[in-house]
Amino acid sequence: MPFINRDFINDLSNRVDIVGLINKRVPLKKAGKDYKACCPFHEEKTPSFTVVPSKQIFHCFGCGESGGAIDFIKKFDHLDFVAAVEAVAGESGISVVYDKNVKPIDASFKRFNALMTKVNDYYKSRLKDSSSKSKVVSYAKKRGISGEIARRFELGYAEEGWVNLYENYIDDEQAISDLEKMGLLVLKKDKKSDYYDRFRNRLIFPIHNAKGNVIAFGGRVLKDKDSPKYLNSPETPLFSKSNELYGLYHCRKYSRRIDYILVVEGYMDVIALHQQGITCAVATMGTATTPNHLKILSRSTDTIVFCFDGDNAGRAAAWKALQTSLSMITSGLIIKFLLLPEGEDPDTMIKRESPTLFSRRIEEAQTLSSFLFEHIKSEVQFETIEGKTQFLEKASALIHQVSYQVYKQQLIEGVAKIIGQDVIHVEKAINQNKPVGQYTSDDISTDQRSSTENQEDNITDPVRTRNINMKGLMSKMISYILNYPSLANDVVEERAKHLPESKVLMELIHSAQIDSDITKDLLIQPFENKIKIYKRLQELSVMEPFLSENEAKDEFLSALTAAEKQQERKRTSKDISSAKTNAEEKKIMDDIRRRKTPNL
Ligand SMILES: [Zn+2]
Repeated sequence: MPFINRDFINDLSNRVDIVGLINKRVPLKKAGKDYKACCPFHEEKTPSFTVVPSKQIFHCFGCGESGGAIDFIKKFDHLDFVAAVEAVAGESGISVVYDKNVKPIDASFKRFNALMTKVNDYYKSRLKDSSSKSKVVSYAKKRGISGEIARRFELGYAEEGWVNLYENYIDDEQAISDLEKMGLLVLKKDKKSDYYDRFRNRLIFPIHNAKGNVIAFGGRVLKDKDSPKYLNSPETPLFSKSNELYGLYHCRKYSRRIDYILVVEGYMDVIALHQQGITCAVATMGTATTPNHLKILSRSTDTIVFCFDGDNAGRAAAWKALQTSLSMITSGLIIKFLLLPEGEDPDTMIKRESPTLFSRRIEEAQTLSSFLFEHIKSEVQFETIEGKTQFLEKASALIHQVSYQVYKQQLIEGVAKIIGQDVIHVEKAINQNKPVGQYTSDDISTDQRSSTENQEDNITDPVRTRNINMKGLMSKMISYILNYPSLANDVVEERAKHLPESKVLMELIHSAQIDSDITKDLLIQPFENKIKIYKRLQELSVMEPFLSENEAKDEFLSALTAAEKQQERKRTSKDISSAKTNAEEKKIMDDIRRRKTPNL
């Protein structure tokens, strides 16, 4: 991730026109000195979304969303902080100033990126101009891909023949060496300088990273009898299958809101769904879903829906995805499963039904817990005592991997209900399943655990924020206020007031509000007589890494929101445990998901 110069970020909001930036996305109407529109972040009929040019901010009186130009673009375009800054600057014709001394970008990466763009243009041009393009055009038509969608995904064509791409670069040694590194040219066995093209006679799908750069290609045969049906670029310095999701860039770019992300099996599924107006879909590329994929997805959505074909392979893949998900579930993240009827995939299904019916299937997808229990039940002879014992053992082994305590407890209670046993009995079985030497979060406070991990990751990763307990979140917020007293304001004070054990934080916010330039030492001075607290505050006042004011604000607010959510969840966990049926549980989980925490 590039590091953007701190002064540049601070200065950027003074140099851009927030009205122009927002108006491009949400048409604004002038209302006195300000501008108004219906809010893009919540459903409404009368406009309560206001843009105030004199302050260069927006605010919605309906849902509480507010902030500056970068905040708006981040939320509306579903971008991370750096990408949002780049977008705001780019659209305003300002070039971004990076901190060059922080992380020098390898010069070869620039070259690789430029080359991939060129190769992508080449494949696209072949789809337009090749003499044999008619067979690929008719294939695309047969699959129902419109010209518009083909352009959206920048589809291309690799012609028949072994050296079409190679011959384009035959005189350029550097390019040939780079193309080999990118996996697009393959060195012939036993020869030292003779190459052939990896992709031949295939429909080409460029693979974009989250920023929209082409980092790899996938190719599909035009006749089903040819094999392999799909071929991907190998792992390269730009492309790692376990870190990339096909369609994520398009999902962010073309979705108005991301209420969920559907994880499907192939490129064609993603494209077919876009064709039918469902833009929140991504596909893994020849690999099972990895924890990293889940981490990436959870930055864009609260609900991940795995969608698999209803055959045995699909069920096995879904089960594998479930196993990967268990340890990744955090507060606020919902994982669901949609298994299609036998013989169907999203592409065929959505064409046979309708987008509306397919969307309903997504809404009604099975919860993780329901899929978990159903699957284990199908593996044992449940009606017998032995079967129930096996059920308990199998469920315990899986539940023990869940680190999110509230959810773990729900699963334990679910198992108890299904086998008609005491919760205590089930808990015991799960604890027996705990491998020696492995901690659960009961053994060690999350605070300590996270300090052994990469410090930067810990501070900037929103998934981590979700994992930290209330005490950890409180420490985090205190540390931010000590280091960035200007974060304190009325809204923050009002929100923090309702959190449990927020007395110290409240006092700090109060002092910081009176003087936003106050030093750390002055802030903690009132606690001098309370030795324990004073020492802890001194520890918390030391902070790394160095963040910009805006990044710090983001981090602080995400901790505040996480703390509010945790408190709310504690309140609702009673409701969940009283749910008697799957439908009730689903309703409560959905209510939790829908409940919005006001943002600043
Ligand atoms: Zn709103």
